[in-house]
Parts: sequence; structure tokens; C-alpha cells
Amino acid sequence: MINVLSVASECAPLVKTGGLADVVGALPGALKKQGVSVRTILPGYPAVMAALKRPKKLLSRRKLFGGPMELLAAKVAGLDLQVVDAPHLYDREGNIYLGPNGYDWPDNPARFAMLCWVAAMVAKSGADGWRPDVVHMHDWQAGLTPIYMQVQKVAKKVGTVMTVHNIAFHGLAPASQLNDLMIPSSYYTSEGIEFWGQLSALKAGLVYADKLTTVSPTYALELMTPDFGMGLDGVLRARNADLTGIVNGIDTGVWNPTNDPAIHPYKTPAGKAKNKADILQKFGLDESYGPLCVVVSRLTHQKGLNMLLQALPVLTARGGQVALLGSGDSDLERAWMTEAKHNPAVGVHIGYDEALSHKIIAGGDAILVPSRFEPCGLTQLYGLRYGTIPLVAMTGGLTDTVINASPAGLSAGVANGIQFLPVTTDSLATALDHLCDLYEDKKIWAMLQKNAMKQPVGWEESTRQYMALYQKVTNAK
Ligand code: ADP
Repeated sequence: MINVLSVASECAPLVKTGGLADVVGALPGALKKQGVSVRTILPGYPAVMAALKRPKKLLSRRKLFGGPMELLAAKVAGLDLQVVDAPHLYDREGNIYLGPNGYDWPDNPARFAMLCWVAAMVAKSGADGWRPDVVHMHDWQAGLTPIYMQVQKVAKKVGTVMTVHNIAFHGLAPASQLNDLMIPSSYYTSEGIEFWGQLSALKAGLVYADKLTTVSPTYALELMTPDFGMGLDGVLRARNADLTGIVNGIDTGVWNPTNDPAIHPYKTPAGKAKNKADILQKFGLDESYGPLCVVVSRLTHQKGLNMLLQALPVLTARGGQVALLGSGDSDLERAWMTEAKHNPAVGVHIGYDEALSHKIIAGGDAILVPSRFEPCGLTQLYGLRYGTIPLVAMTGGLTDTVINASPAGLSAGVANGIQFLPVTTDSLATALDHLCDLYEDKKIWAMLQKNAMKQPVGWEESTRQYMALYQKVTNAK
């Protein structure tokens, strides 16, 4: 049995802003089958604290990063949680990263330094008779952990793995905060955590963790290029030998078309019809002869949805429709709402709605993911499982998880979606046109749906790879 402490800032079903939460929430259950015992350490946001029933106090400090801290243990939704209760840092309503003005909480460096420091304490002394063999850090919020493990003198005994879910977020702080963050100034060098005159928590993880992973093999390669590495490509090239891409799975219990309480369950694509009717009604769309394309996404530049707005005429000219569920940047929200107002082939729901995300994926004929970059992407995997054909940009994990309906993919009978390259409006428009061709050919469409629904999208293979990595890191200690 290998013990793993998973350090993360979000975890489904308790607190989620994106795919990171899904992965952090699903991995422990999947790894259990491989003989790995995972405990997940999380900040004690209000939503997390409210979910704890009779928690056990594991550790406490009267003053850490400016206030009191208690580490609490509880089992919630099948997860073994360790929750850092520090009200001065976490007890606030609203977004977990952003204040009411839409900007980062000013004390974010300290908020997540606290998480990392306490994780290092658990690595050092254990808690509740349990000690990790490996500490697995997720994204910049967990990035300072290996430094604190060195400071607390436990790094030589316990292994570390750092996973990059999205390199766009660096966790920067002014160098003047080094002292407050209890980071020895010796780490503040260009080989260490300095990044263009600031300190970077993400770089800390990338430099000091024993092994690095990211969430798909293609994104692992992309990260080492200037186009995708966002200034850290050199750091990643230097650590090439320690970097692996392990593709994300989805929770096939939660995302199961045959047994999903949010939808009319179905075993075969024919069963999608009732769900489609619901979605057309909910989004104020008429029945049409073209494909109903759905989108479930954060509305940010990354996701390429402004390109979709521009490419829409090609789709709607062929009877295609779009139903979009999303929230994010206000200009994109506004642009999509305006489109829906004027275009009868477009329906939009601005907001975050878990149940509706299941319904819309069940009801769509196709799911669109035209991302400019995409470390792994989850919604295309949901689409595959629900027989909702993914049309995706050929980038990151979207490259690795979809089999393109190219002439070769079609004649070999293996295609399950559509990929387009380069990631431009024109090539997206061409792909949408191709989608309509495929949709009109009922035989081909049925083959795509069949292939999609039988594609393995669970965690089995990926957990084997994580297990092998944990083993390697543990053996090296
Ligand atoms: P990212 O992590 O970059 O946002 P992913 O595709 O990896 O992208 O994961 C996004 C996750 O968030 C998926 O589980 C998706 O279903 C969910 N999601 C995104 N937007 C919404 C929304 N508006 N309502 C419900 N779920 C959403």
C-alpha cells in the first residue's frame, strides 16, 4: 500500500471552478483499486467546512501566516479529507480565487502558502497515525510544498509529484513577500523560484518536485515549446526526463448515460432523442434538420468561443444549432447573449449548473471544444461517453482523446469525432461544415456514435501510470 497526500485548492463535489476539481475528486477512488491510499488536503472554504460532519482535530497552531490554524480530518463523499481551517484566509464568500471586484484576493500567496506549509507538516510528522510516502501537488496553489518540505527537513524521506493542470496560472507574488511566506531568500534565484522579478509558486513546484506530470502526452510536449510554455518552457525542457503526460479520465459513475439522475437515461444513441427535445425547449430552439451542437465551458479566451461566434453562419446555414452553457469573461458572456437574442439557431444559458451540464451533453448531437490550448479537457470525454460527437481543436489532450473522422479514420471505422487544425476561425468553419456532412449521412453518424460510446474514458489506464510513478518516486527515497 502506498500512501499519497494530494494537495489541491479544489475538489469535486465540494468546491469546483474547473477540471482540476474533477480530477482531484476522482483520482482517490480510482487509485484505491490500485492499492493506493489517498488523503486530500484542502483549504477550509465555507463550502468545505459546511460539509464536515464531526471532524477530528489533527494539528493546530496558534499563529501561522497571520492567524490560527487547525487541521481537521473527515470523510466526505467517499474522500478522506484533511481540511486546513484558517478563517482569516478562507472564511469568505464568493469565488475561491477572486474577490468581489473580479481580481485575485490580494492575500492569495499567503492563502495557498498555508495549504502547502501544512501539507509539509503532515509529510513530516504524519497525522492520525498516517503518513504519506508521496506528496502529490496540483497546480500553483500547491507549488510551494516541496520548498516547505525542504525547510521542514522531510524532502529526503517523502517523494513529491507535481501535476500541471494548466500552466496559464503561475501564482506570482512580489519578492518582498518572501519573508512573510517563510521562503528562505536562497530560493529566490533564476534557477529557483524567481520569475521575471517576482516569485512563482508554480515554478517552485516545477523546479523542486521529484517528478512532474501533466494531464495529456501532447500537452507535455507542448509545454516545452515557447508557444505553450508561457515562459516556463525552458524550465520544463530542463526537466524533460522527469516529465510525463498522463491523460485524465472521467468519473464514469457520475457520467453514466444509463444511470444519470439528471437526464432521461439511455443505452443507445436512439435514447438521446428525449433529452434533445428537453434541451431544444429549455434553450428556446425549434426543431431543425442540422446537428444540435452544445458547449459547456468557462467563457475565456482559452476556450476559443469567440472564433465559434464568427464561424456560426456556416453551421446555421446548414440547419445546425448551438446551445451554450457557460460563464466567465463579461465581454464573452455579453457577446453570446446578444447572439442568442438575434439568432434563432442559438440558445444561451449564462451560469454554472452541474445538472444542466449533464442534460445538455446528453441532449446534444455534437459537443464543440474549439480551445486555443487545452491541457486535457473533460467535456469532450463526457461527449464521447454520451454519444455526443466531439468537434475539437487539435491541441493538448483534445489531440490524444479524439479519433478524427479523416478519410483514413472513417474508412478504418475507428473515428469518433472531428479535429481541426490550425486553430483558426476558418478551419473551425470548415470543421463545422464537415460535421454537417457527417450528420447528414446517417450510417456514418451512427458509426461515430457507436465508436464514441465504447471508447474507454475512465481512469483505469491512467491510474496504472500514476501508480508506477508513485512507486518510482518512493523507491528512489
Ligand atoms: P477547464 O478546467 O479548463 O475549465 P475542463 O474541460 O478540463 O476545462 O473542465 C471543465 C469542467 O467544468 C467540466 O467538468 C465541465 O463540465 C465543467 N463546467 C464548465 N463550465 C460549466 C458550467 N457553466 N456549468 C457546469 N459545469 C461546467
